[in-house]
Amino acid sequence: MSRTPLPTKPCARCGRTITWRKAWQRDWDSVRWCSDNCRKHGLTQVDLQLQDTLESLLAEGADSASVDPTEVARAVGGAGWEKLLEPARSAARRLVAAGRAEITQGGRVIDPDHAKGTIRVRRPR
Ligand SMILES: [Zn+2]
Repeated sequence: MSRTPLPTKPCARCGRTITWRKAWQRDWDSVRWCSDNCRKHGLTQVDLQLQDTLESLLAEGADSASVDPTEVARAVGGAGWEKLLEPARSAARRLVAAGRAEITQGGRVIDPDHAKGTIRVRRPR
């Protein structure tokens, strides 16, 4: 028996995929966050700044260039950049979900939901 795939959408903060659940059948349209953690944190000015910075770095580089999220965290966070590393990776996932970037590891495009370790971000090809 084949089933229609469940609807999905990206989390508004971390960009990870949210898959429809029965608990949401009445308010699926208003679901924005994948977890309590994302809901509590929300999408802050810093998150948006990280996303803008990443997009500028992608736009400045050559077509083939890729960006390390660490550069983005450093550009926005200064001395406190390490706190922004995970938010910078979330910004990258949001861009992937919007079709404006790809995340790669070892030069290969990977599924951002399961990215572990060092990643790079590039424009979609
Ligand atoms: Zn999330």
